[in-house]
Amino acid sequence: MVTEVINTNELHKMDPVFGQMSFDNHEQIVFCHDKDTGLKAIIGIHNTVLGPALGGTRMWNYTSEWEALNDVLRLSRGMTYKSAVTGLNLGGGKAVIIGDAKTQKTPELMLKFGEFVDSLGGKYITAEDVGMATSDMDLVRTVTPHVTGISEAKGGAGNPSPITAYGVFMGMKAAAKYKFGSDLLEDKVVYVQGIGNVGEALVENLSNEGAQVYISDINQARLEEVRDKYGVKIYTGNNIYAEKMDIYAPCALGATVNDTTIKQFNTSIIAGAANNQLAEEQKHGQMLREKGIVYAPDFLINAGGIINVYAELENYDRKEIIRKTEHIYNTTLEILKKAEADDITTHQAAFNVAQARIDARKNEK
Ligand code: NAD
Repeated sequence: MVTEVINTNELHKMDPVFGQMSFDNHEQIVFCHDKDTGLKAIIGIHNTVLGPALGGTRMWNYTSEWEALNDVLRLSRGMTYKSAVTGLNLGGGKAVIIGDAKTQKTPELMLKFGEFVDSLGGKYITAEDVGMATSDMDLVRTVTPHVTGISEAKGGAGNPSPITAYGVFMGMKAAAKYKFGSDLLEDKVVYVQGIGNVGEALVENLSNEGAQVYISDINQARLEEVRDKYGVKIYTGNNIYAEKMDIYAPCALGATVNDTTIKQFNTSIIAGAANNQLAEEQKHGQMLREKGIVYAPDFLINAGGIINVYAELENYDRKEIIRKTEHIYNTTLEILKKAEADDITTHQAAFNVAQARIDARKNEK
């Protein structure tokens, strides 16, 4: 498995594509360029054994093309395992557009990008990610049918964040069942780090259940808004990782579970929405295990968003979206038990389930 910590300054020393540290048997990498609109994008198709490669488009001001390539390789691979472990008939893909979404995103650039997506004939299906809005996907929809995450007004499934949060809540409850013997989160001390779209919806679920919720964010106005709305407490200390809590829910950045924080953690469970929480999958998964901290794998419990957009392809309704998202509870519990039985990390157990699904389908073909 690929480690997540990569020194981007070193990337240029590797072979451009197949020698990249994050290259992991990706099927196809498509470089898209258009002089007139200034579009520079990379579409990464990691694996299409289970179905078309679905994953969002991220627009980011990368410091180098190497960094963008590394990101798309890593993210597209992540989508393969997220969809596979969730039981969806989707492969893994992702796209990155190099540039500042606030100043360089134009309708012409998005339409050109849509044409490149269309040229792949459905092998890659896009959606929104960082730097993209539903309105961008609506625009892309005018030049290709291979796009999800479009607005409800245009027949899409709408904002995925509340569903993602609900899935995280389900995964958290399963982890509580496993660790404490009950999935009731009443009175459990939960720290939610990052109260953006997903974090806020998670806070709502948690406070409805009577958990003692502490919130942290770099945006003070947002903290006050969420505190007032749900009656939760703002964390005012200076090191969230060392606080005594029952559950740590990272909902902001990746890689917050690392050498430094694991030494400090005073929590029983880690369950949150952020992608790539473990700075190094194997090493830090193992360190958590040794410390007796139950880690609900991020790519398993944050799959609500992909379940939501999958509805657009399969034409299922809201009820089915909720049912599939609630199923994250069962899958998480199974995986936590399987990790214990097989004496491996929970991350590895989830990865193995996903890989087994892909291998089985490959053998059927
Ligand atoms: P968002 O941008 O709406 O919210 C992120 C929040 O984190 C913001 O309020 C921001 O101020 C805060 N933040 C940033 N740095 C911080 C720090 N150092 N400490 C504390 N707070 C900090 O993003 P989102 O859509 O809520 O997604 C949250 C995470 O979940 C991301 O990692 C995202 O990749 C992942 N995720 C989201 C979805 C989805 O459906 N939106 C699906 C899967 C995974």
